[in-house]
Amino acid sequence: MGTRQQHVPMPEVTLSGFDTGLSEEEQGIQQVVHRFARDVMRPLGRELDRLPAEEAYLPGSPFWQFHTELQKLGLGAEAMGELPPVQAARLEAILIEEMAWGDAGLAVSFGAGGMPLMMARASGNQELIDLCEGKLGCWCGTQPDKGSDVLMLYPEQRYPGSKGNKGNLVAVFENDEIVINGQTSAWVSNGAVAQVALVDAVADYGDGFYDEQGNTFGCNVIVPLDLKGISRGKPLEKLGKRPLPQGEIYFDNVRVPRRFAIATRDDHEIKHAQAWAYAGTAMSLIATGLARAAFELALAYAHERKQGGAMLATHQLTQYRLGGIGMKVEAIRAMARHVSHFTKCSPRPHPYFTAAGKAFCCSELMTVARESLQLFGGVGLTREFPIEKLLRDAQAMQIEDGENNILQTHYGYLLSTLYQQDGWGRA
Ligand SMILES: Cc1cc2nc3c(=O)[nH]c(=O)nc-3n(C[C@H](O)[C@H](O)[C@H](O)COP(=O)(O)OP(=O)(O)OC[C@H]3O[C@@H](n4cnc5c(N)ncnc54)[C@H](O)[C@@H]3O)c2cc1C
Repeated sequence: MGTRQQHVPMPEVTLSGFDTGLSEEEQGIQQVVHRFARDVMRPLGRELDRLPAEEAYLPGSPFWQFHTELQKLGLGAEAMGELPPVQAARLEAILIEEMAWGDAGLAVSFGAGGMPLMMARASGNQELIDLCEGKLGCWCGTQPDKGSDVLMLYPEQRYPGSKGNKGNLVAVFENDEIVINGQTSAWVSNGAVAQVALVDAVADYGDGFYDEQGNTFGCNVIVPLDLKGISRGKPLEKLGKRPLPQGEIYFDNVRVPRRFAIATRDDHEIKHAQAWAYAGTAMSLIATGLARAAFELALAYAHERKQGGAMLATHQLTQYRLGGIGMKVEAIRAMARHVSHFTKCSPRPHPYFTAAGKAFCCSELMTVARESLQLFGGVGLTREFPIEKLLRDAQAMQIEDGENNILQTHYGYLLSTLYQQDGWGRA
């Protein structure tokens, strides 16, 4: 009688929000990567953001300092390769979120940088693994005339009578060699400075580039980028993700041994889809870290700025706005992890489901970044505060690895096809 009711205790939260069940090992890795993201990635990323592209990636620049420090952490594709899929998906989610929280552009440089090695490992070819190990990689998928079209699967069903897009980069298989000609788009992440590439191009195996239905044949080839005939464009000057070097790679009669191919005529489409599913997963997880970073900046500012006679955070309107942004961060994380889990653990993952994750996480990220900046008022627009950089980085992610509207369309096509072909979704 008369004693006061116990208060509901505050929930236990982690760096990654309302997250529970992290093992000791996962928490340990999260802490280590968080410190790296805070102490190395953030300062270097902000420095790179302000440098002209022509200076930013020169030897000794903050870009290479990042990669030197990253190597010391030992968190490359090889560390993940050993783990069972469920554990790998969990750990990858934690790791990429923290890195993107530090700097989203540098996180992409890490992810794209490991793609040739990851695919070489999956092929089991030791020569290719040796060729990629310790080198900065890139993924050459898009070309000037082949952007969104790169992720067009089932063209014969979707656009009957249409011919596949050959693009601007072609590989011709001749006896023991592959001869590569043409160019990539200017958007290849790490393209301006990478040392090895995973090249995804249409291919001629001796009977032309097209099959009877007008679909192109393709290949995936590991290409060291110091070969004769390879040259680069200038690093791109761009709005967002400025710490990430991007630029064209030109191929002029570049000859590589045929054994460097890791996907050819029969398995190219599957491996191509796997690469896109990997990229979409990574983008969803990067969106999580970037969204969290923007939200945290807004949360902190709401506790610094006084207007209306009180700290912003004490006004109900601010609490409502913070609640809205915070809900989205949790939703982005949940979707990103769901996609990551499905892509790693399903017996038949699909890049069009990953596309749904990428499009959802990145478009929600845009709202989070915009609403977070809005909470800063005018100063949010100035370069004195880091929030404007995050908005620019978020904008790049609406297009990166598939423009969101196109990806959403692919997902809609997938759902409709599952309904028609498998009866999925019918009562
Ligand atoms: C930060 C960043 C990193 C990137 N990293 C890489 C990388 O590592 N490797 C790589 O190969 N590429 C990379 N890209 C390229 C990226 O995948 C392409 O930019 C993207 O797929 C879109 O292609 P595009 O820019 O040619 O646009 P386009 O395909 O030309 O699209 C232009 C507009 O047309 C619309 N559109 C396109 N097709 C259709 C259609 N059929 N119907 C209706 N509308 C359509 C699109 O929605 C878009 O709004 C990167 C891009 C960015 C921005």
